Amino acid sequence: MDYKIAGRWAVVCAASQGLGLGCAQALAGEGVNLVINARTAHTLEVAAQALRTLDPRIEVRTVAGDIALPEVRHAVLRACPQVDILVNNAGGPPPGDFREWERSDWVKALEQNMLTPIELIKATVDGMAQRGFGRVVNITSAAVKAPIDILGLSNGARSGLTGFVAGLARQPSLAGHNVTLNNLLPGAFDTARLQKNLAVAAQTSGEPVEALAQTRREGIPAQRFGQAQEFGAACAFLCSAAAGYITGQNLLIDGGAYPGTF
Ligand code: NAP
Repeated sequence: MDYKIAGRWAVVCAASQGLGLGCAQALAGEGVNLVINARTAHTLEVAAQALRTLDPRIEVRTVAGDIALPEVRHAVLRACPQVDILVNNAGGPPPGDFREWERSDWVKALEQNMLTPIELIKATVDGMAQRGFGRVVNITSAAVKAPIDILGLSNGARSGLTGFVAGLARQPSLAGHNVTLNNLLPGAFDTARLQKNLAVAAQTSGEPVEALAQTRREGIPAQRFGQAQEFGAACAFLCSAAAGYITGQNLLIDGGAYPGTF
C-alpha cells in the first residue's frame, strides 16, 4: 500500500532510540523527510545516519536538546521547512508515591508530557490546515486507559494531554481541512526504558531481571514485549493519506494486555 506521504516533512521528538526512533524509521521507509530530536547529540547523530540509509531520497536533520525547553522547540520548528507530520514524544516521568512529590515534580511532568506537545501542536496545526494536510501523533501510554499506581505523574500529565487532544481533534477548522490528531498508547515495549524499569524492580524485589521480565511477558496475551518497529508501523499508517478519516482516537498497542472490550 502506498501511504502517499513521500516527500513530506515530519518532526519526530525524542527519536534517537526506542518508540520515537521506531516512528522515525517507519516514516523514513515511506520516503518522509525528518527532523529528529533527542537530548544527547552523539546518539542522535548515530540514529540520523542510520535513518539516511533507509531511503536515499530523504533528508534527515537533527536538533539536540530537551524538547521541554522553548528554545529547543523553536530550533526544531526552524529546522523543518514545513511541518506536515508531528510526532510528539519525550521521556516519561519517574515512578513514585504522590506523598513524596513536590509541586515542582508535577510542573516538570506537565511541562514534558502535556504542555510541550500542546505547544508544538499550537505552532503547527494551523499551517497544516492551510495546506490541507496534517498528521499529529502523540506517544502517550497504556496508563492513560489503565492507570498504573506508581506512575501518578504520567497518569495525570498524559490524561491532561489526551483530554485536550480529544477536543481539539474535533474542531472543524482542523478535521475539516484534513488535519488529524491521534494518540498511540504503548503497553510494554522492549526499549531501554522498559529494561531500566525492570532493573529497578529487580533491585527492589531482589528477584533476577530475567525472572521479572518472564513474569511480565506471561501476563501479556501476546506472551512477549512489543518491538519499536511494530509501534512505528502503526504511527506511519496514522500519518498516511489513507488515514484522513481517523481523528481524535486513542490506539492501544499492547499485545492484548488491556482486558476491556472497548
Ligand atoms: P527510551 O527507549 O528510553 O527512549 C527515549 C528517547 O527519548 C531517547 O531517544 C531519549 O534520548 C529521548 N528523550 C527523553 N527525554 C527527552 C527530552 N526531554 N527531550 C528530548 N528527547 C528526550 O523510551 P521509550 O520506551 O521509547 O519511551 C518513549 C515514551 O513512551 C516515554 O514517554 C515512555 O514513558 C512512553 N512509554 C513507553 C513504554 C514502553 O514499554 N517502552 C510504555 C508506556 C509508555 P536522550 O536521552 O538522549 O534525550
